[in-house]
Amino acid sequence: MSDKLHTIALFGGTFDPVHFGHLRMALELRQAFGFDEMRLVPSHQPRHRQAPGVSSEHRRQMLALAIQDCEELQLDERELKRAGPTYTVDTLEELRAELGDEVSLSFCMGLDSLLTLPGWHRWEQLLQLAHLVVVARPGWQLPAGDSGGAEAEVAELMTRCAGEAADLRRESRGRLVVREQTLLPISATHIRQLIARGESPRYLLPAAVLQYIEDNNLYRATADGGQ
Ligand code: ATP
Repeated sequence: MSDKLHTIALFGGTFDPVHFGHLRMALELRQAFGFDEMRLVPSHQPRHRQAPGVSSEHRRQMLALAIQDCEELQLDERELKRAGPTYTVDTLEELRAELGDEVSLSFCMGLDSLLTLPGWHRWEQLLQLAHLVVVARPGWQLPAGDSGGAEAEVAELMTRCAGEAADLRRESRGRLVVREQTLLPISATHIRQLIARGESPRYLLPAAVLQYIEDNNLYRATADGGQ
C-alpha cells in the first residue's frame, strides 16, 4: 500500500452550540497529523447522549458560520440528512462506499468518549473501517485492564491496535493513535446554561455564532437549553 494515502479526519459531535474548544481541537489535530481534510460531522439524533437542545438546522447553520473563513475545516452534513438515529459505524460505512479503500479515514474522539465505546452500535467494526485518533489530556493513563467490563475491553483495544502518527498516512484503517492535548475549558452545556441565565457566553465561541444565537433566540427556554 502507498505511504501517501489521502487522509481524511472526522470530528463528530452535537455542536450544540459549536464553540472554540471544538474548533481549536479540530484545527490542532489537523495540523498535528497533517490530515488532508478535517471534517466536522454534526450528529442528527445521537443515541449515546441526551437529545440536543436546538434543531439540526440551527446546529448546522452555527457550524457553517463558525468555519466560514477557515479553509482548514469543512462541514460534513451527512448525518443530519439521514433519517433516524446516528451511528458512527453507519457514517464510516457510507464514507467507505463513497471514497473506496485507498483513503485513510480517522475518526477523532476524546478519551472520555473512547471509554464508552463498548456501548456503541457495532463498535467492533469501527476499526475495520477507520483509524481512531484519541485525544487525551497530558498525564492520561491507560484504563485498568484488569477491572473487567468496558474498561478492560478498551484497554485491550488500545494495546492491540496501538499505532503512531505515520500509520495514519500509510494505512487506511485499523490503528488507534493517542494524542496528548490540552483542552480549552469550554463546554456547550456551560454555554447553554449561561444563556439560559441571561449571562453572556462571549469569547467562548465565534462572534458570528453568538449573533446567530441571539437573532434566533436560542437556548433561552430551560437551564439546559431545551427548545
Ligand atoms: P455538551 O456540553 O453538550 O456535552 P460538548 O461541548 O462536550 O457538549 P460535543 O458536541 O458533545 O461538545 O462534543 C463534540 C466533540 O468535541 C467530542 O469529541 C468532545 O470530546 C469534543 N470536545 C468537547 N468540548 C471540548 C473542548 N473544550 N476542547 C476540545 N474538545 C472538546
